[in-house]
Amino acid sequence: MQLTIWSLPPLITTILAVVAYQRAQMRNQVPGVYALKLLFASLVFWSGGQTLGTLVADPTAQQLIRKVTYLGITLTPVAWFVFAITYAQRILRVSRRTLNLVSLVPATTFALALTNDFHGLVWRTTYNVKIDGFSGFVVEHGLWFYVNVAYSYALILAATSILLFALTQFRQHARTIVAAVLAPLVGIAANGFYLSPLNLSPWFDLTTVGFLLGVLILDHSILRNGVLTTVPIVRDRVVEQLSDPVLVIDERGRILDANQSAMEYWITNGGSLLHGNISSLARNVPIASLRDPLTNSEVTIRDRIYEVAATTLDSSNPEADVALVFRDMTERRKAEKQLRELKDELERMAHTDALTNMYNRRYFIQRLTEEFERGRRHGMSLAVLIFDLDHFKQINDTYGHDMGDAVLVSIADVVNEVKRVSDVACRLGGEEFALLLPETNRAGAVHLAQRLRQGIEDYPYKERCGEDMNVTASVGVATLSPQMQDPAGILKTADRALYEAKNSGRNRVCIDRG
Ligand code: GH3
Ligand code: MG
Ligand code: MG
Repeated sequence: MQLTIWSLPPLITTILAVVAYQRAQMRNQVPGVYALKLLFASLVFWSGGQTLGTLVADPTAQQLIRKVTYLGITLTPVAWFVFAITYAQRILRVSRRTLNLVSLVPATTFALALTNDFHGLVWRTTYNVKIDGFSGFVVEHGLWFYVNVAYSYALILAATSILLFALTQFRQHARTIVAAVLAPLVGIAANGFYLSPLNLSPWFDLTTVGFLLGVLILDHSILRNGVLTTVPIVRDRVVEQLSDPVLVIDERGRILDANQSAMEYWITNGGSLLHGNISSLARNVPIASLRDPLTNSEVTIRDRIYEVAATTLDSSNPEADVALVFRDMTERRKAEKQLRELKDELERMAHTDALTNMYNRRYFIQRLTEEFERGRRHGMSLAVLIFDLDHFKQINDTYGHDMGDAVLVSIADVVNEVKRVSDVACRLGGEEFALLLPETNRAGAVHLAQRLRQGIEDYPYKERCGEDMNVTASVGVATLSPQMQDPAGILKTADRALYEAKNSGRNRVCIDRG
């Protein structure tokens, strides 16, 4: 055993790498995190091996540890490559065969390191030396060592290119892209320095420190921004080219990701959607209900209406990120509204008399049927008035048909004046009208009929029609009685009373007594 300062750098790296591994472990739900864990694991192995190598003094043990440590050394570039293709897997499929091919050189290196004593391809010569109380090996590297270094650099370069390609495809922040380039450089620079003539101490190897730093940069810039979380799921080409906007939000509504449509729809003045909050876009719906996959919320964004479908990216975690797909419903809602209005208008037209705007016969009969049933079932009173203008033919003949029409409209004025809101007034046809009076007894009906008759007589026709004229009406009143079998019965009774009013001199109210 030997305790020297040289154990410190690899030891610190090992501890940091173990901590980083455990933190990645906690994010096990995140797709693709296994690649990151592989990276940390190989760094733990590498720096752990180095630490152990500096702690033992026995040359044989040191040699053995150095050889076994090569597993970490050879695995690191492979893990880096796996990390990159995991990130980019939606746009770049890498087959298992390719992976095996990629691992061929590192596997050979590891095998050659273990069997170095027989061929010296990795370490040509090794000298056991003791400097400043530290005993270790000074080595002269063999041919394969340089093959492996070149290959590892190339693999990391390839991984970085793939990562960069993916990041630019996904239109990530420039910061993330810089980090992706910077990360491998830190590791390679540390390794390059160790191998260069500038390095005066054979024990001074900060390669693992450099790589760990690099991986932490990657972890921080790419994973922390939530990108890897969403990449395999949302960053699909399909999503990207979907005409519906898609956003990924976290549990506080922060926007982690946005597809092309979302950016085109909602980015104004060159701003950014990423890292903003959904509540500043969709103000009318709380974040919790937006995130709820069971409710399809409807939100208004920039005067357009969207139906939002939420899909959680991890159903086992209620706080997981959620993908929101926005379907533009504006045109459909507008069409639905128009259709509703059209339907209402049609319905109104089907019930309305065009000239007087009163209800028509069809609606009157419908309401009469309902009120008749109701009155009979609940023993409530019901009255019907029918009235007909007196000598209307003469008015037409004297003042013209148009003036006659104006008189008919005036009658609607009078009726609306005297009737209650619950009464139903209609023009049965020609100059004949009817009033349905629910919950009205005989006395009430006669009273109203008198007021109506008087109103028609007193109406200031000059104002509306331009001519002063005498218009009167005869009114027949009927009320619901137990003998009446159907709605037509009460109508017939009122008609009889009207007939009687006409026959007994007009401009009067008559009641049929059954
Ligand atoms: P009575 O007192 O017996 O009811 O006499 P009347 O002239 O009112 O009766 P009649 O049924 O013989 O005539 C009704 C007239 O109402 C016939 C028609 O020219 C007129 N009339 C029917 N519908 C309309 C309409 O929509 N506009 C106008 N201006 N006149 C109409
Ligand atoms: Mg008439
Ligand atoms: Mg008539």
